Amino acid sequence: MKTFIFDPIDPSALQYAKEKLNVVTWTDKEIDNYSLAEAVIVRTFKMTKEVIDQMPNLKIIAKHGVGVDNIDLDYAKSKGIRVTNTPQANMHSVSELVIALALNCARKISLSQRIIEKGISKNSPVELAGFELQDKTLGLIGLGRIGSLVGHKLNAAFNMNVLVFDPYTTQSKCHEEGFTKYESLDDLLKESDIVSISVPLTKDTENLISARELSLMKKNAILINTARGKVINEQDLYHALQNGEIFGAALDVFAEEPISKDHPLLSCDNFIGTPHNGANTVDALIRMGTGAVDEIVRVMRNMKALSGIA
Ligand code: NAD
Repeated sequence: MKTFIFDPIDPSALQYAKEKLNVVTWTDKEIDNYSLAEAVIVRTFKMTKEVIDQMPNLKIIAKHGVGVDNIDLDYAKSKGIRVTNTPQANMHSVSELVIALALNCARKISLSQRIIEKGISKNSPVELAGFELQDKTLGLIGLGRIGSLVGHKLNAAFNMNVLVFDPYTTQSKCHEEGFTKYESLDDLLKESDIVSISVPLTKDTENLISARELSLMKKNAILINTARGKVINEQDLYHALQNGEIFGAALDVFAEEPISKDHPLLSCDNFIGTPHNGANTVDALIRMGTGAVDEIVRVMRNMKALSGIA
């Protein structure tokens, strides 16, 4: 199957793709000739209606990763084009980044580095005092693959009490996992020391966290978002951080990506940013690349894809 790979993928995954498929890569001249594509692998490349319309032979859009907000799903569905993703491939990488960001923010590791680079006259400066995660409360917004792993890992490591806000999950699922389901996002925000967001970007989750929600959080709480940038109102977060309304925030995702070096959040001492690095591990990159290829092979053989988005 003629497969266009629009964004760079891991070299071993690319080798795997070449063994299984007729591949056109992002460096080939042919990549601009959309009309030849029967399958595509995309990471951030936008599969808009206009792009899809230039691909009359397209049978499958294989997302390398989880979030499919760069794909016009309704239009692909209306044209009978399969859309798949690799939901299991990066969940450990993203959940580990959440934990790294929680520890970094709570112990001010990035700020410590910046301060010692400027030169210090005494150890343990008071402005670098952090807090422990041990026995604290974690609020998960979204209890899917990533949220659930974050909950289990932080509970196992630090005995954190885990609260969940996810209207699409059941009380009994939360109970089985050892977590507590909250029907009210406001209540979860009021009680959590660490709030971690793992929801898809939808019209319900856009601006889910704005000034009002931030004002409900504890003064010593940390907000972490590895989902999608537009779930948080960045301007409101900037004001909350500047005014010390919360202890800190760590974002891996931004409304506009890649994040500009002039982004106002970068001027806040209590802010940590990473450039959409959640799935950026060797382990996840190989699994996402080979997983996307496997889905195309399945569709090529008229088999059911493992993931069915559309
Ligand atoms: P998932 O589909 O397994 O889980 C998403 C959860 O969000 C589901 O349980 C769903 O019920 C819940 N949800 C949906 N709408 C909600 C709402 N309004 N309020 C509360 N909960 C809601 O997805 P996942 O694998 O856990 O990934 C979560 C998101 O993380 C993805 O959609 C993607 O956007 C993002 N992501 C980011 C990176 C990165 O590199 N930073 C990597 C992978 C995924």
